[in-house]
Amino acid sequence: MTTNADLFARAQAAIPGGVNSPVRAFRSVGGTPRFLVSARGPYVTDAEGREYVDLVAGWGPAILGHAHPEVIAAVQDAAARGLSFGASTPVETELAELIEQRVAPVEKLRLVSTGTEATMSAIRLARGFTGRDLLVKFAGHYHGHSDGLLAEAGSGLATFALPGSAGVPAEIAALTLVVPYNDLDALRAVFAEHGDRIAAVITEAAAANMGVVPPLPGFNRALVELAHAHGALVISDEVLTGFRVSKAGWWGVEAETDAAYTPDLLTFGKVVGGGMPVAALGGRAEIMEHLAPLGPVYQAGTLSGNPVAVAAGVTTLRLADDAVYTRLHAAAETIADATSAALDAEGVPHAVQRAGTLFSFVLGEAVASGVHDYAGVQRQESWRYAPSSTRCSTRASHCRRASSRRGSSRPRTTTTRSRGSSARCRLRRAPR
Ligand code: PMP
Repeated sequence: MTTNADLFARAQAAIPGGVNSPVRAFRSVGGTPRFLVSARGPYVTDAEGREYVDLVAGWGPAILGHAHPEVIAAVQDAAARGLSFGASTPVETELAELIEQRVAPVEKLRLVSTGTEATMSAIRLARGFTGRDLLVKFAGHYHGHSDGLLAEAGSGLATFALPGSAGVPAEIAALTLVVPYNDLDALRAVFAEHGDRIAAVITEAAAANMGVVPPLPGFNRALVELAHAHGALVISDEVLTGFRVSKAGWWGVEAETDAAYTPDLLTFGKVVGGGMPVAALGGRAEIMEHLAPLGPVYQAGTLSGNPVAVAAGVTTLRLADDAVYTRLHAAAETIADATSAALDAEGVPHAVQRAGTLFSFVLGEAVASGVHDYAGVQRQESWRYAPSSTRCSTRASHCRRASSRRGSSRPRTTTTRSRGSSARCRLRRAPR
């Protein structure tokens, strides 16, 4: 049998790091990446024939479960009629209409192929519309891998960013200002200083790429008001949350509260392609009409609105009715509660961070009351996520401890007291 390890070794010889997107390499959690060969409903199967309950769900798109028969039939039907035309197809308008019906601030929409393309194009559009250059983003938010967004905060409350990757020119990163999330005072300070040069603020509608960190009540609304007071636009990035946390994304969650807000542009990905490469940017018609061919902001794509991919997106959105979201919520709650109970049983202080159907954990006493920004996320004991090969010698249940992170300066032994038990566990670093 060809094992995951065999496949990874072969992949590493042909592909940098053996993967086509870095997180798949399992570097931060350790272990051998699983090479998947099929998926059905809530399960995925690896090359060794082992089946797993899939909590990744393709990083979001699989809200109906994998390989839903109606989605597969739509894709097969579209494929049989031709894979790519480089010309308009009726189904593209159908997807635009479906999204516009669900998310009121989207009056016009353009399809692209990836979330990165959607945010990159939305930023160019915001700059073209306002005639300004600066962009504000929040620390810990991820909007894809375009140069200006691979920018990290330097020291200080709000700073011109430093390149977040080799290969990003400092001059490009310097057009991005990075501000702590959920911090309106910091945002006000940035607008007070640079307000007339800021084209847009880009924000994850509810942050989920640094772990789940929902916006504080009223934050999105106040952000829109502040930006508009200075003539800047707000780009609400719903690539991750769109059609995942509700029928109308995070915008829909807040639309029903006192905190309702209207962003100028929104970006989508993941669910809108139902597992195929489809993403989109949409928003106020007046702004969207600045895109070529109507306006001066250039944007294009050979595979934009690809008929096979869009067939998957349209079918997924059509099937994603209220019952689907009720089920998603129930499943998220069950899994979050069970994991939280397991952490309690092991005496790991933690907080469950939730945003609709999204949840994640922060681990450690210092964060047990929850966190609101990236600095808070970084205070957690992240070494606890890695698997351990050590077992507690003094309790029947085993104590998990992170396997070593290379270069870690953490002590070689740690003693912890379980919250729910008086047993002491002596934890040792696993041999390398
Ligand atoms: N924005 C957000 C909020 C995302 O979560 C992601 C992907 N995780 C992106 C943009 C980039 O999307 P893609 O990976 O399709 O380029």
